[in-house]
Amino acid sequence: MERTYLMVKPDGVQRGQVGQIISRFEQRGYKIVGLKMMQIPREVAEKHYGEHAGKPFFQGLVDFITSGPVVAMVIEGKEAVATAREMMGATNPLKAAPGTIRATFGIDVGRNIIHGSDSVESAQREIAIFFRPEELVDYGRAVDSWIY
Ligand code: ADP
Ligand code: MG
Repeated sequence: MERTYLMVKPDGVQRGQVGQIISRFEQRGYKIVGLKMMQIPREVAEKHYGEHAGKPFFQGLVDFITSGPVVAMVIEGKEAVATAREMMGATNPLKAAPGTIRATFGIDVGRNIIHGSDSVESAQREIAIFFRPEELVDYGRAVDSWIY
């Protein structure tokens, strides 16, 4: 079953949006297999966002993502990567489709509430950056056999 890496960014934590955001994925039917609050060390943030190194917003992005606690999670379920991206909405909350997480909770591209992996390969890379294998919990749910 596919997994993706999601993270409520410091703005979502500061604004008390963590529960509502996690709820959306639970309601959709995704299973949480990893969940923790953490403050990201700078070098970890630079690795996570490595593809953006050199871009004008890179330093600000790293400053921001390390500025306060984030809630890191791994969810599992059908087409988790693409569906989570759809549920998040466009990078710029002002351009995100109504009802998406970014459109519901934000208005600034640099404060867009949530991160989600953009491909299955990115998801594997990012899960390995933020979670040790033993932190991911393998468990069944009664609904797994019939809800999908
Ligand atoms: P996404 O998070 O949708 O995958 P990107 O990978 O392109 O978006 O960018 C990573 C993060 O960098 C974005 O979520 C956003 O917070 C920030 N970012 C992207 N573009 C800009 C920009 N033009 N100005 C400020 N911050 C930006
Ligand atoms: Mg991205």
